[in-house]
Amino acid sequence: MQVGSIISLKIANKILNFAAMLLKDKTVLITGASRGIGKGVAELFAKNGANIAFTYASSVEKAAVFEKELNANYGIKAKGFQSNAADFEGSQKLAEDVIAEFGTVHCLINNAGITRDTLMMRMSEEQWDEVMNTNLKSAFNLTKGMLRHFLGNRDGSIINISSIVGITGNAGQANYAASKAGMIGFTKSIAKELGARNVRCNAIAPGFIETEMTANLDDEVKKSWISTIPLKRGGSTEDVGNACLFLASDLSKYITGQTLNVCGGMVM
Ligand code: NAP
Repeated sequence: MQVGSIISLKIANKILNFAAMLLKDKTVLITGASRGIGKGVAELFAKNGANIAFTYASSVEKAAVFEKELNANYGIKAKGFQSNAADFEGSQKLAEDVIAEFGTVHCLINNAGITRDTLMMRMSEEQWDEVMNTNLKSAFNLTKGMLRHFLGNRDGSIINISSIVGITGNAGQANYAASKAGMIGFTKSIAKELGARNVRCNAIAPGFIETEMTANLDDEVKKSWISTIPLKRGGSTEDVGNACLFLASDLSKYITGQTLNVCGGMVM
């Protein structure tokens, strides 16, 4: 092989390694990663060299298996924490524990979320409160928990997982849509408050992503959703992960206060 080709190969390898390691030696805290989008994001981040602190609500076994897989397969450090994102005091303690365990945190992903869908006529106060606390108050809880750390470091990327229905609204999801719209207003405000200290805050609004959250929908409902999507398919957890990867990494270092729709063009 000629010297020129060897050099080109070496450069190509370097580019490939760089491309695969966008978050080398960074640490991310992601809520709700025992399954679904959070799990997909955590895996992609681990492949890109990030250490992973993740939370879950009740999936103790799934989380233990996932923690083991991450540690075994990607040469990074990973640890799962059982922590209710809706609980303020618990979230402050979680933030302290994660910083103590990992030394530092570069990125927070507020992903934990639930649905309690029903028409407004039937919606109970409990269904409203549960969704608002788990989806929206949780973002306040952990942003508050990580704030001083990010400000002290003059570095941090906060990513809030909102939803397309936070932009469009959806019949039967007044509680969920309100919580997700709230996350977008929260994101813009935090971006304005923290930008001067190089702490960025962005939201991602996924459309129809194939996870356990959407697995319960009946086939007709799924088909009708998919027919409205220009790219004619539901999204994958990797599709959302790639957007998170961009917003967590230096590739987006001049981007804050934005909402990135990951929805196959469903909302433009
Ligand atoms: P999922 O499959 O139901 O997974 C939810 C995750 O959140 C699980 O890890 C769960 O832990 C955790 N969780 C739930 N309540 C929690 C709490 N109080 N404290 C801590 N963790 C909690 O959901 P998903 O589809 O991956 O959705 C993830 C996020 O994306 C949510 O915010 C959702 O609103 C948003 N989103 C999803 C879609 C979609 O089409 N799937 C579309 C737009 C937006 P356990 O396993 O322990 O219960």
